[in-house]
Amino acid sequence: MAMKITPLGAAGEVTGSSFLLESGGEKFLVDCGLFQGGPESEERNREFSFDPKELSAVFLTHAHLDHCGRIPLLFKRGFRGKIFCTRPTRDLSQFILLDSAKVQEEDFLRQERRKKRAGEEALPPLYSESDVLFSLTLFFPVSLNSPLSLGRNLKVSFHQSGHVLGSAFLVFEEKGKRIVFSGDLGSPHRNVVPDPENPPECDLVFCESTYGDRSHKTLKESIDELALAINWAYGEGGNVVIPSFALERAQDVLFYLRNLRDQNLVPKNPVFLDSPLSISLTEVYQHYTQELDEELRAILSRGEDPFHFPGLEFTPTVEQSRAINLSNRVIVIAGSGMCQGGRVVHHLKHNLWREDSAIVFVGYQARNTLGRSIVDGAKKVHIFGEPVAVKARIFTINGFSAHGDREVLIDWLGHTGKAEIVLIHGEESSSISLREKLEELGRTIQIASPGKTYEV
Ligand SMILES: [Zn+2]
Repeated sequence: MAMKITPLGAAGEVTGSSFLLESGGEKFLVDCGLFQGGPESEERNREFSFDPKELSAVFLTHAHLDHCGRIPLLFKRGFRGKIFCTRPTRDLSQFILLDSAKVQEEDFLRQERRKKRAGEEALPPLYSESDVLFSLTLFFPVSLNSPLSLGRNLKVSFHQSGHVLGSAFLVFEEKGKRIVFSGDLGSPHRNVVPDPENPPECDLVFCESTYGDRSHKTLKESIDELALAINWAYGEGGNVVIPSFALERAQDVLFYLRNLRDQNLVPKNPVFLDSPLSISLTEVYQHYTQELDEELRAILSRGEDPFHFPGLEFTPTVEQSRAINLSNRVIVIAGSGMCQGGRVVHHLKHNLWREDSAIVFVGYQARNTLGRSIVDGAKKVHIFGEPVAVKARIFTINGFSAHGDREVLIDWLGHTGKAEIVLIHGEESSSISLREKLEELGRTIQIASPGKTYEV
């Protein structure tokens, strides 16, 4: 009996990560992520192409919503198996999934009011807060590098992938055959999370390709660019708005801001972390110092907090968030990372039209998102149904990315021996570009098709 894998999401696109794994007559799932961006995602999120009751277990690579966001729906539709992941991933997922249920509920109430007037019906939330709480009881934490036996012959192990706190790539083994799932891969030499481990030689590897078509600027160049954006906006009298993913990017940005201020490279004006979710996740990071990068542990051992500095204010309440709009020459870090909702949208409304403000994008912007249209140079966008002119200076800094670039991916794949490569988690142009480069290196490579079954 062979191992069979069928990509159900993140195939030819970046979001909705999910892979069905069949082994020894049992069915497993690797990740159960949310599709994000565009109205069609709403529909796709509602359906599973398998019966959740038939799944034996789920393996979760990390806590980003596009990897874990449909787990409560899986519970709601009858799944009662274990969800294996690292301990930090479990703790981060709690906050991320509860926040997701809350955001869905709020969206629903807002849409319901609007649609009622048009005589239409709004789509109910995918799941409730109680679905989240029940699904959390199924989470089963595992340690890195400790193989786990499942089913008749299947073994799985989790390994450091250097993407966010707790993130792992997975190695499955059955009767001498080996499959690797990269999950999302980070770059070596970042300061907050450890470097990714090298994968073993294997027969088949599913590898992400988010940035398969480009090389990131170095971390040093990116930090310099961040300082430039801040100094430029302060010089003009404007603000700096940093749309940020709540997980990892927010903590990275806090860490780099702390360093820039320590070295007097930027003025010590107020900084607001305006995201209740980021605030909770930063607390999880503070609990798992032993899982973080060496450089960071050194700061902690001096009794300092790497994610805090004088002048940084956490603003959990809506009143505190509103009050920020009255300030000038401040930095606001807020979610959501692709500006599809959350408090950052309000800050964009107050700053996009200002010629003296800077909007600093530090993360990936998927197609059909507000963030992507701004990055792509839109002169006008719609916020809460109203047109807003884009006059602020836009900075796109990709060196903070939690995803490795083309060179990192090629180097990592170099350790997998002669494994057949299936590229996942990338827009088409990015995967094609990476495929060409890998073919030059003599590798056998395909770009994942959703619904196609791969076998070893
Ligand atoms: Zn991720």
